Amino acid sequence: KRANPAPLLALVSRPPPHRRPAPTQIDAHDAAPMSTGGASLVRRALEAVRRTPRWQKRLVVLTVGAGTLSYACQDNRVLQISDGTGGKKKVVILGTGWAGASFLRNIDTSLYDVHVVSPRNYFMFTPLLPSVTCGTVEARSIVEPIRNIVRKRGGAFRFWEAECYKIDPTSKKVHCKSGDGTNADANGEFVVDYDYLIVTVGAKPNTFNTPGVAENCHFLKEVEDAQKIRKSVMKCFERAALPNLTDEERKKNVHFVVIGGGPTGVEFAAELHDFVNEDLAKLYPDVKKYVNISVIEAGEHILTMFDKRITHFAEDKFKRTGIDLKTNFKVVKVSDKTITMSNPTTGEIAVPYGLAVWSTGIGTRPIIMDFMKQVGQGNRRVLATDEWLRVLGCDNVYALGDCATISQRKVMEDVDSIFRVADKDNSGTLSVKNIKNVLGDIYQRYPQVELYLKTNQMKGFHDLLKDKETEELNIEEFKKALAQVDSQVKMLPATAQVAAQEGAYLADCFNRMNTCEENPEGPLRIRGAGRHRFKPFRYRHLGQFAPLGGEQTAAQLPGDWVHVGHSTQWLWYSVYASKQFSWRTRMLVVTDWGRRFFFGRDSSSL
Ligand code: FAD
Repeated sequence: KRANPAPLLALVSRPPPHRRPAPTQIDAHDAAPMSTGGASLVRRALEAVRRTPRWQKRLVVLTVGAGTLSYACQDNRVLQISDGTGGKKKVVILGTGWAGASFLRNIDTSLYDVHVVSPRNYFMFTPLLPSVTCGTVEARSIVEPIRNIVRKRGGAFRFWEAECYKIDPTSKKVHCKSGDGTNADANGEFVVDYDYLIVTVGAKPNTFNTPGVAENCHFLKEVEDAQKIRKSVMKCFERAALPNLTDEERKKNVHFVVIGGGPTGVEFAAELHDFVNEDLAKLYPDVKKYVNISVIEAGEHILTMFDKRITHFAEDKFKRTGIDLKTNFKVVKVSDKTITMSNPTTGEIAVPYGLAVWSTGIGTRPIIMDFMKQVGQGNRRVLATDEWLRVLGCDNVYALGDCATISQRKVMEDVDSIFRVADKDNSGTLSVKNIKNVLGDIYQRYPQVELYLKTNQMKGFHDLLKDKETEELNIEEFKKALAQVDSQVKMLPATAQVAAQEGAYLADCFNRMNTCEENPEGPLRIRGAGRHRFKPFRYRHLGQFAPLGGEQTAAQLPGDWVHVGHSTQWLWYSVYASKQFSWRTRMLVVTDWGRRFFFGRDSSSL
């Protein structure tokens, strides 16, 4: 279509004077008996043009020209967005959580044709989800619609509200299904092809196949979960307040059980405790004495990922405030009326409950399980990537956030190759100078080496050598020196912090793809030639919080800084306000906190 405008313009524009045909010639043509319909049409048009005043001709030229141009531009835009043409590679992102949204915020859309598929058309600030369960913060205050982000970025990417149910890395396609089934087949299915695929689908709650959990427990993963819990808490109170109930029945209705003593379970228990004591106790004075909140933990302690001082403070605080902490209890079955748990000393016991929240960790989504089988990772629990977030066993697919884990390369797997790379003169031994030359690359490629030195209060690589006077190291001595460093390989935690940093890192790599192709900035390739294009992903831990209720929060910041109390609660408020996705959600969250402070939490069972 874009090839046609030239003849069209030629038809209405005036021909150059020296090529203008003489009127007699045209008349002669007119007289020719064998002229076709098309030709006579052209002749009539030319005649009409000749008779038309000059200003009118200019107007027509201008209108048709501008129309054609705008059509061409519009056509171009559509093609660029939908087909990834115009030299842009097509990047498809699955998921709009912490990892996906962070990638989306940072990717340069002038370089890539970006498409997003997610069943959730919003980003959710998960750390405030427990606050939604009790109405401290409203659900809509912690979400940012993806369409707002599309608008803010000038419509530079496409979003489809649908679930991806199959990744096909061989044909580089993802199969998606929208819940609405609005296409011709009414099954809502469509296929999207990609040049690069960014998998950020997160994880699902893990029930460990415990019978009855899926049917009878609440989870705390999505906004809808938090809203359901809020409604159920109020239903429990209303049921316990009904007449003609025995004390046992009232107790059962307001027995709230949290299974799992990790940060989410603990925070929910603390929120609920505050809600009951600060608001519901005044509204349900007759029910108050029956309320019981239990936290059941299979391990010996709660909050084990925190410093021991925080764990002990939290356990003492819970006991003081009347939260029933049951450690060393494993839930084995949940029915609609009772939770059965076992303990080495008590054996199995069944307790009646009104509401149970299951928060024991995360499991792999079915789409990831299927994908893992396809790429030869079927025997693993989590999708593995390399240190550049590329999925192992397939090309051009990246995975980040809770759905994946970085499989850090071990030093001892590569030790022979490291030796060979360092031994530049092929002498079969390494001098201190040889090692120094590659030390920066080794630290970058294998962060466990630096971590090992730090953990063991060693100043440098030299401290790893038993015999510090050694001038030259042979391969065996080199292996011996490095033998223990892999003990420091750590899996990154499944947190928003990790997911967001991974998203930003990967977008930055994509934005500098061409530059780094020409000037690689990564460490030396130990098993190949040259350098890696990019530096590997490095996680920077910025600290963690555990709100414990009663306006007290535990904080553990880098540098072994641990603090619990009211002052850290204010730190928590300011950090979480500043971390909101936009000014809109920041204002909403802060006003929710203010509303709760002045008027208390809302107790309607909406
Ligand atoms: P998610 O944020 O879960 O996002 C996954 C996205 O993928 C979603 O948009 C989902 O709709 C989409 N999706 C799912 N299936 C598909 C599919 N088949 N196709 C396409 N899209 C799909 N971390 C912290 O660091 N600090 C905290 O204080 C903290 N508090 C938390 C409190 C709660 C209640 C919870 C549940 C988690 C908390 N976390 C916290 C953990 C943190 O939320 C997760 O680690 C983080 O959300 C992981 O990000 P993600 O992008 O991998 O996954």
